[in-house]
Amino acid sequence: MSGTDITMKFEQEFAEWIGVKYALGFNNGTASLLAAMYACGVRKGDEIICPSVTYWASCLQAMTLGATVVFANVKDDTLCIDPEDIEAKITPRTKAIVCVHYLAHPCDMDPIMAIAKKHNLKIIEDLSHAQGGLYKGRRLGTIGDVAGISMMSGKSFAVGEGGMLITNDRSIYEHAFALGHYERFNDANVTCEDLKPSTGLPLGGYKFRMHQMSSAVGRVQLKYYDERCAEIRKAMNYFWDLLEGTPGIRPHRVDESDGSNMAGFYSPHGIYVAEELGGLSVTRFCEAVRAEGVPDCTPGCNAALHTHNIFQTADIYGAGKPTRIANSPEDIRKFDANLGPAEKSGFTIYGVPWLKKFIPSQIEEYANAFKKVAANYKELLDGDKGNPSRIGGWHFFKHSQNN
Ligand SMILES: *Cc1c(COP(=O)(O)O)cnc(C)c1O
Repeated sequence: MSGTDITMKFEQEFAEWIGVKYALGFNNGTASLLAAMYACGVRKGDEIICPSVTYWASCLQAMTLGATVVFANVKDDTLCIDPEDIEAKITPRTKAIVCVHYLAHPCDMDPIMAIAKKHNLKIIEDLSHAQGGLYKGRRLGTIGDVAGISMMSGKSFAVGEGGMLITNDRSIYEHAFALGHYERFNDANVTCEDLKPSTGLPLGGYKFRMHQMSSAVGRVQLKYYDERCAEIRKAMNYFWDLLEGTPGIRPHRVDESDGSNMAGFYSPHGIYVAEELGGLSVTRFCEAVRAEGVPDCTPGCNAALHTHNIFQTADIYGAGKPTRIANSPEDIRKFDANLGPAEKSGFTIYGVPWLKKFIPSQIEEYANAFKKVAANYKELLDGDKGNPSRIGGWHFFKHSQNN
């Protein structure tokens, strides 16, 4: 099981399916994103810009490369990186922008690509939540320079543990396999002059290849995946259609009329508007929905990363200063000054059931639970103890087994 023959078949089929020249299998998504950063030229002293509200593996690996993570806010309706805040965070040291299609919602790629072009920056798409999704008719993951993808069990495209890097750029592909795929890093595969002298051993001292059992699962998953996503979208869109116009409740979804979609609606959430429910806290709101029998309704999602110690004072490699700025002249406080909106995002989000099958009677029951709570919010105001000071976790929310 330790070769690459099955993995290479999976890579070829995945590349054809998503529409890119090169796909490279990894042992996990975290490694694929580290390789994407390296292949985009992220090095000591450089900066990458990443949304603060995401899973840590969208950005934390950049510190291994000696780079600095600069966080941007997310928009409160899409939960994706705010293009306006990207522009505000660019410095002469910026190398790449990580675009996370968060909870399957496509980032607004047109303005982001324009910014990247203007400032000569690389775009890394983190496709871990949105494999197969579309932005204005284009497959997510194929719009930027490169994409890193998780395929661990909780994700929409699940193979157990595994990851994939996709790109149309030969140089990015070669630098990605040079870092942690020694078995491919040989004279026959390499065209980049800077890589030629070092073939044979992995540049990063990493071993990143995919387990072939996962590759085999991936090949089967690929056959059914678009069909499965279409059924999930039918179910989730029906759920949100039923809740249309309910006070306090907004969907987190795209308008599909422009050719965008949310693939398999990974870990679906809703947007909460407390003002429409007399200021009822999202914590109390979720408690009441759960009491109606909806197990997945918990407040928040990923906590704002910049508030964690690892991005504040932690000195991981003994540089004598925080690792995040080990090779930077800047003060962390300067980077994090305007991230209030990211810190508050947990207060306006709640989980909803991940509906994998279109079963109208079940979906209606779930939607009715949300409607009942919204209609009776006044009765909940009395016992409302408010929200805790921080909502959201460092890892991830529970994935329901029920649906
Ligand atoms: C899961 C995830 C990753 C990391 O992938 P692993 O396969 O768990 O290493 C990276 N980015 C995001 C947004 C994720 O959700």
